[in-house]
Amino acid sequence: MQAELIAIGDELTSGQRLDTNTRWLAQQLEEHGVTVAFHTTVGDDLAANVAAFRAAAARADVVVSTGGLGPTADDLTRPALAAASGEQLVLDPAVLEHIRQLFARRQRKMPERNAVQAMFPRGSQPIANPHGTAPGIAIGLARPGGRPARVFALPGVPAEMVAMWEHSVLPAVLQLQTSHAGAARCIRNYTLRCFGVGESELEAMLPDLIRRDRQPRVGITVSRATITLRITATGATPEACQQMIDPTAAIIRACLGDLVYGQGDDELQDAVVRLLDRARQTLASVEYGPGGLLAHGLSVADPDGRIYRGGWILRDSKPAGHHPTAPLPDAADPARESLAAIAEQAQARFATDWCVAVGPFPSADSPRQPAGQFQLALVGPPGTWQQSLPFAGHPDVLPARTAKQGLDLLRHQLLKMQRQVSSDTRVGS
Ligand code: AMP
Ligand code: MG
Repeated sequence: MQAELIAIGDELTSGQRLDTNTRWLAQQLEEHGVTVAFHTTVGDDLAANVAAFRAAAARADVVVSTGGLGPTADDLTRPALAAASGEQLVLDPAVLEHIRQLFARRQRKMPERNAVQAMFPRGSQPIANPHGTAPGIAIGLARPGGRPARVFALPGVPAEMVAMWEHSVLPAVLQLQTSHAGAARCIRNYTLRCFGVGESELEAMLPDLIRRDRQPRVGITVSRATITLRITATGATPEACQQMIDPTAAIIRACLGDLVYGQGDDELQDAVVRLLDRARQTLASVEYGPGGLLAHGLSVADPDGRIYRGGWILRDSKPAGHHPTAPLPDAADPARESLAAIAEQAQARFATDWCVAVGPFPSADSPRQPAGQFQLALVGPPGTWQQSLPFAGHPDVLPARTAKQGLDLLRHQLLKMQRQVSSDTRVGS
């Protein structure tokens, strides 16, 4: 069974407002085993709305639209559905009475225009709206050579849409699905999060998993240098889906090793905080280029501050010696030396086991920074590291990427130490 989502409103087509309804509904449908084949966004124009509903009904079994059900002249979903179905709009007296009562309860007289919200194409059914005046509309739209497409038109206000979906539309969709497929299907997703290589490099490390016809399906997306591998399985039950997912996840983990740092919505800082927690160690940070992203991410990952004890956000592209807390050592390579030195100061100041530091971004007027390079420093129980890394990519991504590179350096060091400890324990026992 295939679905199409239609988002209606000039505020959406013009880009004034982000269409969050479609995203939410698509996730709901997929979660319940209904493949979403099309998203359509259409403005407040009657002919365009009629065309959108006709096209959707011709190619999808289930259509869910949001928006355009209000009482004003730009709300056209009702007449559009009447035109698309070739039916008249007729008054539903029970719905009109319900709307009148809603206004009476708010001690307001119902404006005459609101009566339009009690008009429905003949043959359609109202969908109750517990939180607003506008009921939704459920209607079948005929299509050549098949059973009618089932259309559910919901209001645009997200909270109303969600309540009506959960209360009325989802149960109806699940029933349709049973009558279509004979048995309920479900779709389950499992995501693995990776960091440290580019997307194509990562794909080349995997056997032929990304094929479109594979079951379960594996997809790759990249956001701010974090690579997400999404495994999608379709099966009769959640357990059946999980049984398909597990071997694929195991193959990916075996091929990618430590490049995989987590699953679900995990960020690198979550992985780092988990590793530090296991080792009962604490962390401080120093950052120039990322401008606070490191401190923010770590604070969110460790809200009570047990592990991440604090950090310095510095904005200094001046030569060494201008740092507020202490004069910096003179060195042949001031950028290298000074970042590690500041990281050591922060580690001492916050009394932590570790400090991770990301240096300033190179700029034409930065005498501390070799062109095209930035510095990472790490201070911890085994000693102090510093590293110069290439600095390239879209400027919007660089703060996040360099913060992640700092966290990843720490993550690998923690993994190494914890493996060392566990092999020592094995040898000792
Ligand atoms: P409507 O039902 O068209 O009167 O929409 C009511 C309000 O819901 C609009 O003013 C928008 O702010 C919001 N809205 C409509 N469609 C969407 C959508 N697809 N995603 C998020 N918000 C929406
Ligand atoms: Mg609207």
